[in-house]
Amino acid sequence: MDIKKLDYDKKKKKMRFLIQKGSAAYTNTLRRIILDNVPTMAIEDVEFRKNSSVLYDEMISLRLGLIPLTTDLKAYNLPKKCTCKGAGCARCQLKLTLKTKGPKTVYSSDIKTKDPKVKPVYDKIPIVKLLEGQELQFEATATLGAGKEHAKWSPGLIFFRSFPQIKISKQPEEPQKIVDSCPKGVFEIKTKKLVVNDKRIVECDFCEACLEEAAEKGGIEVKPSATDFVFILESWGQLEPKDIMKNAFDAFDEKLSEFKKLLK
Ligand SMILES: [Zn+2]
Repeated sequence: MDIKKLDYDKKKKKMRFLIQKGSAAYTNTLRRIILDNVPTMAIEDVEFRKNSSVLYDEMISLRLGLIPLTTDLKAYNLPKKCTCKGAGCARCQLKLTLKTKGPKTVYSSDIKTKDPKVKPVYDKIPIVKLLEGQELQFEATATLGAGKEHAKWSPGLIFFRSFPQIKISKQPEEPQKIVDSCPKGVFEIKTKKLVVNDKRIVECDFCEACLEEAAEKGGIEVKPSATDFVFILESWGQLEPKDIMKNAFDAFDEKLSEFKKLLK
């Protein structure tokens, strides 16, 4: 199996790479390990001191849990693997507080953190609207967790699609029409002939607009590869994509060693 990097957008925290000579099963295993096993920080417990807003405590807690927090994996342990054995200590928990009064919209930026490395990824996530005289005050506990327990701990959006195999067996009468039909710009004309643009082919998402255009005359074939895949990883912001990948490989190794131990 070969893995090649396609692009890495540091600002958008998005990474794409190409898996060649692999299988859908293996690629999906990688996707599931990232979703289920790469840990991130999220709010797990909330203790309300005051809440006179229109939302119930439970509703606000749910909203708080879904706020992505920047994660420092070196400083925190998973509660289960911590030396405190899950009782809660500075190595596996972080307290976040909020104290505010209306009238205003409470945003994620109003949350105060004791660790500058762990804070909401985005400042403008609305939590609740407070009217004149309404108050909100709470202490929240953030912990490391994994996506297999709750989706709030998933590190991002991960998906893959087959690499397209495009064959032009017969030149169409009007090649420009095919070029124009593709919303991803996969085709181009070179020396009056319709060809596939090698740099753009990766963008093909099998919309088959080109096939519709060429339907009457035939000659174009678009097939998904069974061995080559485009893998797309977009972080929610808690971790950098490359750290997500590194941790996924570590988690994979750990699973295989566990299996090896069981066999012994
Ligand atoms: Zn601990």
